[in-house]
Amino acid sequence: MRIGDIEARPGTKAFGYLRTAASRSGLSPDIPIHLIAGSAPGPTLLVQGAIHGAEIIGTIAILHFVRKIDPRSLRGTVIAVPVVNRVGFELGERGSRIDGKDISRLFPGNPRGSVSEQVAHVYFHEVVARANAMIDFHAGGEAGYERYVLFTAERDPANLTDLERKRRKLVVAFGLDQAAFFPPDTFGANKAKEAIEGAGVVQFTLEFGGGTGWFKNGADNVRDAERGIWNTLKALRMVDGPFEADGPLCTIYNASVVLWKPPVDGLFIRKKGFGEFVRAGDAYGIIQDPYTGRLLAEMPTPRDATVIPSGQEWPTVGATSIGILGAVDRVEDRRTTDLYVSFDETA
Ligand SMILES: [Zn+2]
Repeated sequence: MRIGDIEARPGTKAFGYLRTAASRSGLSPDIPIHLIAGSAPGPTLLVQGAIHGAEIIGTIAILHFVRKIDPRSLRGTVIAVPVVNRVGFELGERGSRIDGKDISRLFPGNPRGSVSEQVAHVYFHEVVARANAMIDFHAGGEAGYERYVLFTAERDPANLTDLERKRRKLVVAFGLDQAAFFPPDTFGANKAKEAIEGAGVVQFTLEFGGGTGWFKNGADNVRDAERGIWNTLKALRMVDGPFEADGPLCTIYNASVVLWKPPVDGLFIRKKGFGEFVRAGDAYGIIQDPYTGRLLAEMPTPRDATVIPSGQEWPTVGATSIGILGAVDRVEDRRTTDLYVSFDETA
């Protein structure tokens, strides 16, 4: 297996930087890549962290994983990328200050575009498109966030595509007690998601605490993020061993109902807990002036629904949403669900 100048022979690990784009900023956008080539054939799994530079729980979990994985007992290949958005990471920022763009929204990229568009182009074609499956770690950055698996809503749940069927299994196999699916155009990620699916890659995303949650639950989140990487390898039959999870059940939320933005910028404080059923008009949360503490807006719940995981409190400047409502779609039981996924093509 070879990516750029990085090459790993069967049963070995290699590390290097994938050359992406020239930048006059003094910051290199080239991407650090650990290539772990198993000694036997199997699928290719991409595990990536910090495509949003300030969201680092996946980064730490990936580094733990890379230290522990023995390529001699691995089937297939793992491409482990602790930090995709290196410029944002080095500045502690979500996007890239070089051009103000978000790499995760730019796939398949543009070789003649801005620095982030070039990075997205090289990374998409050299790395993403070569994977069978892909774990994309996010978290709260400065602000805290909940902890759940996030994936794109299925087009027709009664008639799943092969990719959707595989993704269903991997979402549950990962091991968290909750997951949520969103319409593909949520958060402006439609084009990028289509490019990834178009390349035949089974992709899912993690939100993993972070922010204030980093200080409260950091070690737990890192441990469970790493556990999820191992569970995914087990589901793909790349390593052997039993699944370890939060518990036997995984509640899957349909977050396709309501997503709304703050009426005014300030400090958002959610009053309703996730999984809680709320009625239209209930106080969903408030927005305070973050400096004076004055109440700026009260936010009634727009309709009867279930509160879907989102942050607890954070500054709303630039926020994509303050509230997510939906319904419990189903509860999967790991004791009775087949979590194993196989790909025809092998590396
Ligand atoms: Zn993110």
